[in-house]
Amino acid sequence: MRFAMLQNQPLTGGIVAKNLRISDNGNGELSLYGDFTITLKVLDLTTNGAPNLNSLMTFTQQVISNKLRGGGYKSGVSIHKYNENQKAFNKNKIWSYSIRYNFNFMVNVIQINMLSQLKGNDFVLAVVDTIGHQFTDQYGQIQGSAGLTQGAGWPAAVSYNSWLRNKYFGAHEFFHTLDLNDIEDGNKKNRLMYHLSDNSGHVISDAEKGDMMQYIVGNINDMAKKEYSNINLNTVSRVRIFLNKSIYAIKYNKAKFR
Ligand SMILES: [Zn+2]
Repeated sequence: MRFAMLQNQPLTGGIVAKNLRISDNGNGELSLYGDFTITLKVLDLTTNGAPNLNSLMTFTQQVISNKLRGGGYKSGVSIHKYNENQKAFNKNKIWSYSIRYNFNFMVNVIQINMLSQLKGNDFVLAVVDTIGHQFTDQYGQIQGSAGLTQGAGWPAAVSYNSWLRNKYFGAHEFFHTLDLNDIEDGNKKNRLMYHLSDNSGHVISDAEKGDMMQYIVGNINDMAKKEYSNINLNTVSRVRIFLNKSIYAIKYNKAKFR
């Protein structure tokens, strides 16, 4: 009975992992296995509505799925030493590993209509009217912002008109949430994280994939459990702080923010 009730609860948690497994090749390489569900909740805060939101969300879901597919690889990761026999990490010993992330991903991008549909550990992309925030790039040019995030795990925002102009902007902002940085190197305009042009490319490098996998795993000690979710975020209060930060100058329909 209790199990049946749990099954009927709506999925919560930006990251939910099942069937986690670690294999140690004994030679400095860990292979991590698991089935991950990534959920991004899209909150429409536009004043005049966002008639193309559904197709933008479908597109974003496909981009995120495609970019996460195939897992990733990262070398030189310093973590607690893994003990294969005890299936646990030794908290007294730090070790440098190469890590193979053999993860399956299921990606959900769903629309929510009110803050009460946001749980503490969700990922959220707020769709807003305009973002006034400007930044100076490495070439000294002042640039506008189509979207914004405050860093890994934080909510993201994108202005609806910018997202219409380049449908990759939603995924770009979400990948900041998964800990990727912007790229300004003029030789890397083919990259999805290049942010000095509306017409940047769509490539996510292997190193970036490795960085996202590392973020998704989070506290790697949790991999030694069978299941895991990112329960430590407090998205609702983060959304409030983020949207109202004066330097970001985000304009949105405050009546929808309830
Ligand atoms: Zn960016």
